[in-house]
Amino acid sequence: MILDRFRLDSRTALITGGTRGIGLAIAQALGEVGARIVISGRTLPKSTERTLSDAGVSFDFLACELLEDGAAERLVADTVAKAGSLDILVNNAGIAIHGDSGDFPDATWRQIMSLNVDALFRGCRAALAPMRAQGKGVILNVGSISGIVSNIPQNQVAYNSSKAAVHMMTKSLASELAAENIRVNAVAPGYIETDLSRGGIANPDWFPIWRRMTPMGRVGQPDEVAAAALFLCSDAASYVTGEVLVVDGGYTTR
Ligand code: NDP
Repeated sequence: MILDRFRLDSRTALITGGTRGIGLAIAQALGEVGARIVISGRTLPKSTERTLSDAGVSFDFLACELLEDGAAERLVADTVAKAGSLDILVNNAGIAIHGDSGDFPDATWRQIMSLNVDALFRGCRAALAPMRAQGKGVILNVGSISGIVSNIPQNQVAYNSSKAAVHMMTKSLASELAAENIRVNAVAPGYIETDLSRGGIANPDWFPIWRRMTPMGRVGQPDEVAAAALFLCSDAASYVTGEVLVVDGGYTTR
């Protein structure tokens, strides 16, 4: 049965930033098809526990500030210690901070790059030892349409650059690791309704432009990204690596 290929029974999935938004939806989706779920974030909101328990998904939470040195490495090691393996790593945690380039602060640039790029690479690097030991693995990075087009009207040079780096990192790692049975892909969401985008959706100078530029005429929901993530994390995508799968209501067609 083709649908069996979407099952993730007996696989452990670590989802960074799995406490809210897109990461939580991915955790729920992977858990619903049988994966053992480990989520990380700086805090664990009660609403996260409710969402996953209502979906019948049990999970472990690892508190982790990914901006700290060694955090991504500790997170991977703690996951393996807790669950006994790491089959799927979803590098989802990320931040977006806007600002005009002329006076964009160094500290903000560094903060965005440290989380969206450096911590993401460190997570991938740390995952290689356990994945190599078991002869297979799957990494899914969360990129963005902002790594493909310079979306408007907000100025976000650092965020856009960070997501372009995520896409290229995905392709580079996929090429390097394919022979070792480790697949590396990315999803590139358009505007998705989460805490990260809520300010922009509420902004009357921004949202009408976002909507007009999205052929489907609406923002997406986290579970619409999670469905694509599930495909890429599962054996249904057994011959897919190095892909950046766009989930954007058509935004990048224009
Ligand atoms: P949210 O702000 O809703 O969630 C972000 C998650 O990351 C939370 O779980 C948060 O948990 C965690 N996180 C944030 N900062 C840190 C940190 N320093 N250390 C550890 N964990 C951290 O964001 P989204 O769900 O919207 O975004 C998820 C991913 O999707 C990001 O990579 C984002 O760039 C990308 N994306 C989002 C789009 C959108 O429109 N929403 C569009 C395109 C891409 P806590 O705060 O507890 O640490």
